[in-house]
Amino acid sequence: MNYDKKTIEDIDVKGKKVLVRCDFNVPLKDGSITDDTRVVAALPTIKYLSEHGGKVILCSHLGKAKGPDPKLTLKPVAERLSELLGKEVKFAADDNVVGENAKNAVAQMNDGDIILLENTRFRREEEKNLDSFSEELASICDVYVNDAFGSAHRAHSSTVGVTKFVKPCVCGFLIQKELRFLGDAVNNPTRPFVAILGGAKVSDKIKVIDNLLTKVDTLIIGGGMAYTFLKAQGYSIGNSLLEADKLDYSLEMIDKAKKLGVKLLLPVDFRIASEFKDVLPQVTEDENIPDGFMGLDIGPKTEKLFVDAINGAKTIIWNGPVGVFEFKNFELGTCAIAKALADSGATTIIGGGDSASAVNNLGFGDKMTHISTGGGASLEFLEGTVLPGIAALDDN
Ligand code: AMP
Repeated sequence: MNYDKKTIEDIDVKGKKVLVRCDFNVPLKDGSITDDTRVVAALPTIKYLSEHGGKVILCSHLGKAKGPDPKLTLKPVAERLSELLGKEVKFAADDNVVGENAKNAVAQMNDGDIILLENTRFRREEEKNLDSFSEELASICDVYVNDAFGSAHRAHSSTVGVTKFVKPCVCGFLIQKELRFLGDAVNNPTRPFVAILGGAKVSDKIKVIDNLLTKVDTLIIGGGMAYTFLKAQGYSIGNSLLEADKLDYSLEMIDKAKKLGVKLLLPVDFRIASEFKDVLPQVTEDENIPDGFMGLDIGPKTEKLFVDAINGAKTIIWNGPVGVFEFKNFELGTCAIAKALADSGATTIIGGGDSASAVNNLGFGDKMTHISTGGGASLEFLEGTVLPGIAALDDN
């Protein structure tokens, strides 16, 4: 897949109607935004387009709407955007998203104005990527910009379908940054290149492990995933997370790593408890976990093993916590990894989702080179899967 895509800096937007697909899928409580990270992340692209005289028409999905749903209106996002930009962002309330109201709002825009359309999932065609909705979206703009990396792994009307009916189609600054960091790390890394994979399940990361083994010098596996790998090699894992149907796969990956000359590091000790609770941990001597106990974090010897590997690296990608970091007693391993990355001097890239919140909650967010804004999308990127929302944009 070609990641060298045209950006908003490659086109002239003055006086043009610019439809911008953003990721405004923010958490809401009683109609208020509880975390505006995604809104803030969208500002550079919006400001650039407005300052360069574009008529900026923003759109996004929000939540799992399956048609019009007043609880999932994007109105609060328009209000937050207006505050953050210090400039009115008009909300084009319209259950049809591109109905009469939205069209009238667009017709009245002056250069530099910004409006936000209603939740694209108010239209059922959106997730089906139907031309009917894609064409309507295209009909109100001259230029299409995608800046919603978090939705780039989905082929929907507002991320892919619309690009069939409008030219040019370019990326915004957020997607440009994701492509630069994730793309370079995976396809052109400064070596040694180390990947750290954690999180709950092997099954979620099968393709990631498979793909990264062909790219990295060292692959570190921690978190709930590690127990299936250890069990496959004959260690006792007590009641720890196990995916019995992935034992053969684990052995295949261990074998693949050997054949490719990739160092595969697994935990050598654990912090354990007798139940899934935030209690004081016991620490195992080695890989084995006694019956009646479960591993909830890596142990101190493993921390040292993993940190030593991190210290020698020039490029590091991390996806998935190495323990149940939501429990204070079991955050130490994840914390040690985050600190090691922060101190490493390497290019450090954090996959979205849980690893991003772990790094931010532990206070290391601003020490990382890049924290991806897309959980599912960054995972699919690491799998080597073509992201349809990126593929649909004009090549440079
Ligand atoms: P994921 O969404 O796959 O990245 O998984 C993240 C989740 O994995 C977090 O909520 C962690 O609490 C959980 N996790 C990490 N290590 C373990 C473990 N040893 N046992 C159970 N859950 C774990």
